[in-house]
Amino acid sequence: MERHQDTSRRTMNRRKQRYMQKRMIITFFALLLMTGAGVLAAVFAPKEDTKEQAARKNTLETSAKPVEKDTVKEQIKEPESKQEENSENTQSAVLAEADLLAAGYDYDKAIETIKSCQGYERNAELTARISDYEAKKAACVPVNIEEVTHVFYHSLVVDPELCFANQDTDPQAVGNNQWMTTIDEFNKITQTMYDRGYVLVDLHDLVEETKDENGEVHIKPGTIMLPPDKKAFVLSIDDLSYYHSYDGYGYASKMIVDENGKPKCEYIQRDGSTVVGDYDVIPLMDKFLEEHPDASYKGAKGTIALTGYNGILGYRTDISYQTVPEDIDEDKRKWLESHPEFDLETERANAKKVADAIKADGWKFASHTWGHMKVGDASMERLQTDTQKWKENVEPLVGATDTIIFAHGQDLAEWTTGYTPDNEKFNYLKQQGFNYFCNVDSKQYSVQIQDNYFRQGRRNLDGYRIYFNSIGEMDSVSDLFNASEVIDPKRPPVPHL
Ligand SMILES: [Zn+2]
Repeated sequence: MERHQDTSRRTMNRRKQRYMQKRMIITFFALLLMTGAGVLAAVFAPKEDTKEQAARKNTLETSAKPVEKDTVKEQIKEPESKQEENSENTQSAVLAEADLLAAGYDYDKAIETIKSCQGYERNAELTARISDYEAKKAACVPVNIEEVTHVFYHSLVVDPELCFANQDTDPQAVGNNQWMTTIDEFNKITQTMYDRGYVLVDLHDLVEETKDENGEVHIKPGTIMLPPDKKAFVLSIDDLSYYHSYDGYGYASKMIVDENGKPKCEYIQRDGSTVVGDYDVIPLMDKFLEEHPDASYKGAKGTIALTGYNGILGYRTDISYQTVPEDIDEDKRKWLESHPEFDLETERANAKKVADAIKADGWKFASHTWGHMKVGDASMERLQTDTQKWKENVEPLVGATDTIIFAHGQDLAEWTTGYTPDNEKFNYLKQQGFNYFCNVDSKQYSVQIQDNYFRQGRRNLDGYRIYFNSIGEMDSVSDLFNASEVIDPKRPPVPHL
């Protein structure tokens, strides 16, 4: 039953999307048909017009575009019932598009969409819908930007038994247990946050960014308007590279683009067979938002923080796979040995195709530093070398980004100090185009907005937090979900750090 509802809702959403794409075409043909109706009415003695038909004819006189004579003749042959059906289709397509926009709190665009419908003023259903959107818009209140929480995940665990096996003997299995979240946990958290009124916003929604005549970026708090029972949150995903170290531990193996142009995951099952599906945050969140358009503000998605040393998104795109330096990592060497067909340009082209689909889907990319480096500890020189490697190996595939999400939760300065004008590393990263900086502080919220930068602390919703919250040793996620209801029964006890 639930599955049936899911399927039919998905079908509905797909249908909505198709309508939107075809709206222009449908509108055009509807106009043609209606013009045909006008011609017919002139040729044959018309029946008594209903008010509605009269209104439609009036609209036609003002809106019909000049059309080729032959086309008109052809369209005249269409039966009248078909014409009405088409015009209803057009209206329901417009309403569907507007409703979707309004569900995502974009009431202005929703109203604009309805007003793009010729003769909407004389259509009771359309004007009623406009009033409805206006009322909803008026009921919205501004979000307190200072209190917006930012949560993040790593790649999700598809097969917890495999991922968490051998806790006593395998240090990586312990790491998996501490830092990773299972698909089951992610789905429960996402549903609970939605039920509690959380709405996904983009990092950039939190500010208003302007550029002066010198091209300098200036930042000030932005405005997000939501219904009073809603709360905003930001989402990011770290390390979406499918590192070699993930192999055999029950994670997806790479991101791919499916036949509909949507980002999906490839997963290699225990028996070695490969399947494609929703095996990580991107496709799971996409599916959730498709089914709950009110879970995202104006279509916002998350930010994906990428390193470069093992490539990106499961593709071995780093130059080191081709140059094979003396000191290359053992796992890279092994991977190259088992993949004699490796071709850097092919990997990069495939990765770019996937990155393009992810961006088209509304997600954004950020740097996580090329080498997952500790920016606080690193020398200035190392930071520069690392940043250049990111610019050469990752940026050409995902595009330029203004956001850096630091690895190991490190940062360039204390929170209270902020980034001061004498902060050499900050000045360098600013020069390199970064204006948005995120660390990990696990606080409910920490937002710092200065004229020249935006800074936000993040919270890891991982095994460590979920486990210690679930046993009552920690209280750091209860504003978002109840950890004891969310924890995967397949997760073993997590050791202290
Ligand atoms: Zn990381």
